[in-house]
Amino acid sequence: MKDLLNLEILKNTFDDLPVGVGIFKIEDINDIKSVRYVFMNKVVLYEMRKTRDEVFGKKIIEVAPEAYEHEGGLAVIETYRKVAETGEDVNLGLVEYSNEEVAGTYECSVHHIQDNYVYVMLRNVTELEQKKIELERKNKELNQYVSIVSHDLKDPLNSITIVLQLIEREYAGRLDDKLDKFFKYLTDSTTRMRTMITELLDFNSLGQGKEKTSIDCNELIENVQNDLGAKIKNTQTNFQVETLPIINGYKTELRLLFQNLISNGIKFQKEGTTPNITLSVKNENGWTFSVQDNGIGIAEENKDKIFSMFQRLHSTKEYEGSGVGLAHCKKVVELHNGKIWLDSELGKGTTFYFSIPQ
Ligand code: ADP
Repeated sequence: MKDLLNLEILKNTFDDLPVGVGIFKIEDINDIKSVRYVFMNKVVLYEMRKTRDEVFGKKIIEVAPEAYEHEGGLAVIETYRKVAETGEDVNLGLVEYSNEEVAGTYECSVHHIQDNYVYVMLRNVTELEQKKIELERKNKELNQYVSIVSHDLKDPLNSITIVLQLIEREYAGRLDDKLDKFFKYLTDSTTRMRTMITELLDFNSLGQGKEKTSIDCNELIENVQNDLGAKIKNTQTNFQVETLPIINGYKTELRLLFQNLISNGIKFQKEGTTPNITLSVKNENGWTFSVQDNGIGIAEENKDKIFSMFQRLHSTKEYEGSGVGLAHCKKVVELHNGKIWLDSELGKGTTFYFSIPQ
């Protein structure tokens, strides 16, 4: 009697929930054909395109015998049995369900109620999954497009460069000041364009066709410090690093990320200041790294736009660079499903943070 009362309360509670909930009873714990629908809420009935009368109190084998005919269906029903047997909940993740009228993808978990009763919770994510596939396809297309256009742009650029070199050789020392200035401007522009195309291609290829590996960040930072050796020495940078973790990620990309953030911290300084760079890490639902500097700072209104490709706040005369470093950083962090952000005070310094979920 007590069991029935509990079940009634559960049924009433579940019926109007916006997610699908169904209660099953496994009559014989050793027989997956003995699983019976006790109750399906409105969402599940809608997903199955069935009425209460067609389902309630019936066995799965009577209502949906096809479920026993393929691996996916069998695995789900076996999970109901297992959860009833062990009392331990199971998250099934994404599950495909179809009958003669519907087909879709569902996020699905199975929970123990008591004795031989379990309940299953499901959410229809068919549209979300389709959008994800579509987005991935469009992203791939865009990458290919960028790659083709960038390569194609190199040809005419090479022609311009060759003609410029020919002119330079032919008229060496014979150009007047004005023409000489125009000529230099043209050469600088083509060089800049070549750099931009290369950087676009680099940006595009980040993470492509690579596998994540286990990375000791202490070793990674040692390598970065070696690469930046001359810069650190010339500027007498004071560089502090905490002990860092071992993480799972894309090695070359992560190295680029640390290198960009650290070298920006060294670069964007008031003249005459000795750079102080501190690299720290916290374990809070995954890793959160921070790179702190005592540089010129970044105004509030520029905090988002500096992550865009080719976006700079200064001329190359003030601080050299091409404005791709942080765009690369953002892409690398997002490849690892993390986020990048910053705190800054003008004239005092900036701290960049990025998270790497584990
Ligand atoms: P680049 O360093 O080539 O200019 P980035 O994409 O790395 O390109 O940075 C974009 C802009 O963000 C820089 O031009 C600079 O204005 C600003 N910036 C980046 N890092 C810092 C920093 N640590 N302190 C102050 N400004 C910064």
